[in-house]
Amino acid sequence: MRNLILILGDQLDEHAAAFDGFDPAQDAVWMAEVAEEATHVPAAKQRIALFLSAMRHFAAGLRERGMVVRYTALDAPDNRGTLAEALRAAIAAARPEALVMTAPGDWRVLQALRGAAHEAGVPLDIRDDRHFFSTVRDFAAHAAGRKQIRLEYWYRELRRRTGVLMHNGEPAGGAWNFDAENRGSFGPAGPGRVPAPPAFPPDAITSAVIGLVNLRFAAHPGTLDSFNWPVTRAQALLALDAFITQRLPLFGQYQDAMWQGEPFLYHALLASSLNLKLLSAHEVVAAAEAAYHAGHAPLAAVEGFIRQILGWREYVRGIYWTQMPGYLDGNAMQAGAALPEFYWTGETPMACLRDAITQTLRTGYAHHIQRLMVTGLYALLLGVSPRAVHEWYLAVYVDAVEWVELPNTLGMSQYADGGLMASKPYVASGKYIQRMSNYCTGCRFNPALATGETACPFTTLYWDYLARHETVLRGNQRMAMQLRNLARMSATQVAGIRAQAAKLRGAA
Ligand SMILES: Cc1cc2nc3c(=O)[nH]c(=O)nc-3n(C[C@H](O)[C@H](O)[C@H](O)COP(=O)(O)OP(=O)(O)OC[C@H]3O[C@@H](n4cnc5c(N)ncnc54)[C@H](O)[C@@H]3O)c2cc1C
Ligand code: SF4
Repeated sequence: MRNLILILGDQLDEHAAAFDGFDPAQDAVWMAEVAEEATHVPAAKQRIALFLSAMRHFAAGLRERGMVVRYTALDAPDNRGTLAEALRAAIAAARPEALVMTAPGDWRVLQALRGAAHEAGVPLDIRDDRHFFSTVRDFAAHAAGRKQIRLEYWYRELRRRTGVLMHNGEPAGGAWNFDAENRGSFGPAGPGRVPAPPAFPPDAITSAVIGLVNLRFAAHPGTLDSFNWPVTRAQALLALDAFITQRLPLFGQYQDAMWQGEPFLYHALLASSLNLKLLSAHEVVAAAEAAYHAGHAPLAAVEGFIRQILGWREYVRGIYWTQMPGYLDGNAMQAGAALPEFYWTGETPMACLRDAITQTLRTGYAHHIQRLMVTGLYALLLGVSPRAVHEWYLAVYVDAVEWVELPNTLGMSQYADGGLMASKPYVASGKYIQRMSNYCTGCRFNPALATGETACPFTTLYWDYLARHETVLRGNQRMAMQLRNLARMSATQVAGIRAQAAKLRGAA
C-alpha cells in the first residue's frame, strides 16, 4: 500500500485535502470508531450517535465510489478502544509507505496520531484544512504582538480578504455590524409559530447505531428517543436550505431571545454539520450572502449570521491552536467549585436552567444565549472550576468539538483566560434572563430580588461575584458601571447577599 488516508469522525468531507491525489489502486482510507472518543468526557448519547452514524454513512459513500475503506466498528472484536492503538494496529496490518491526513481539529488527537505514526516509523503528511477561510498561520500572524485578540479586527480582516459582504472595498450597508438591530426579545405574546426544523427519521444505519449507543453507553447523559440530526451531506444540505429559506430572515432580530419550550427558534442548527464537515463553511456563508443579494433576508440578519461563521468560528479556531495546550488549564478567576449535579439531570427549581438543561439532554442542543447566559453564566457566578464546565460542554452538545467548544467555554463564557478573548466577564443578574425570555414568569424565584426566600439565585450570585472580585475588576473600564451600582449598596445589603450566596454555594 502507498498511502493510508486517515479520516476522523469530524472530517467527513470527500473534497478534503487528505484525498488529494488519492489513487484507488494504491491507497486506502482508515476510519475507526473508538470508545475513548465517547468516554474521555462522558459524551451524551445524541453526540455519540451523530458521530457514529455520520461516519458509517460517509464510509459507505466512499466504498460506493470504489475506495477501499479499512473501518473498525465500535463493536468489532479487535477494537483497541483508542485512536492511537487502532492506528498502530492498522499500520501493522497494512504496512503503508505513508499516512496522510487533513489537520485534525483537536490538539489531543493530533498528539495521539503523531505519536503512533512516529513510533511505527511511518511518515505522516498533515495537510491544511480547506474547510476554513483562514489558516492557523494567518491567525498567528494577525495575533502577533497583540495583548488582547479581539474578534472584531480579525473578522474585518477576513471580510476584506474574502470580499464577503463587501462593496467597493467598504462593508455592505456602510457598517461592519448591525448588533443594535439584533438584540430583540419576543414580547409577552411570544414567538408565535416557529418553522419546525426538517425531519430526518433514522434509516437502517442510524437505527443500528442508536441501538448500539443505548446498549454500550446506557449510563451516558441524555436520551435518543428523538434523534433528528443530519448524518449525511445530503441531509445537511436540506438543513441548510431550510434555514436559509425559513429562518434566516428573522435570525438576527431574535438571535439572543429565549422562550420556554422552544429550543430552536430562528437558529441555524448547522453547527454539527459544519463541525463534522458535512457542510463547508464557504458554501454556508455563500448561501446566506446570496439570500441577501436576492432580497430574501435583511442585511442585519445576514451579517449577524455570517459574523458567527466567518468571524467567531475562524476566531475561536485561531485562539485554540495558538494557545494550546496551556489554554486548557486557564483559571484566571481562581474558580474551584464543583459543577452542580443538576447539570446532568435538569432537576432544579430554576426555570431557565431547567429548560435549557432538559432540552440539552433531550436534543443535544441549546442555542448560544442559553449556553452563554444561562448554563454558562450560572457556572461563572457560582465559581465552578473552568475545567469542569469545559468537560460538561464538551460532553453534552452534538456540535461539541474541543477546538470550538474550549475557547467559547473557557474564554468567552468563564473569563478563565483572564480577558484574552472577552473584554470583560459576561456577568448579569436574573433581570437579563427576564428581559430576554419568559422563563421568569413560570419560576418560583424573582429576578429583582437578591436576598430572601424568593431571591433569584442568578441575582444573588451576580452581586456576590462583583463583590468577591471587585479588586480585580476595578482595573477594567468596561466594568465601571456595574461596580458603581455595587458601590451604591449599603454594607449591610452586601453582607446579606454574600451570606445568601455562601448558602447557595454550600447547597450546590
Ligand atoms: C459555553 C459555550 C460553548 C459552546 N460550544 C460550542 C461547541 O462545542 N461547538 C460549536 O460549534 N459551537 C459552540 N458554541 C457556539 C454556539 O453556541 C454554537 O455554535 C451554536 O449555538 C450552534 O447552534 P446553531 O448551529 O443553531 O448556531 P447559530 O446560532 O444559528 O449560528 C450559526 C453558526 O455560527 C457558528 N457559531 C455561532 N456562534 C459561534 C461561536 N461563538 N463560536 C464558533 N462558532 C459559532 C456555528 O457554526 C453555528 O452553526 C458554544 C458557545 C458557548 C457560549
Ligand atoms: S427568576 Fe432567576 S432562576 Fe428563575 S427563571 Fe428567572 S433568572 Fe432563572
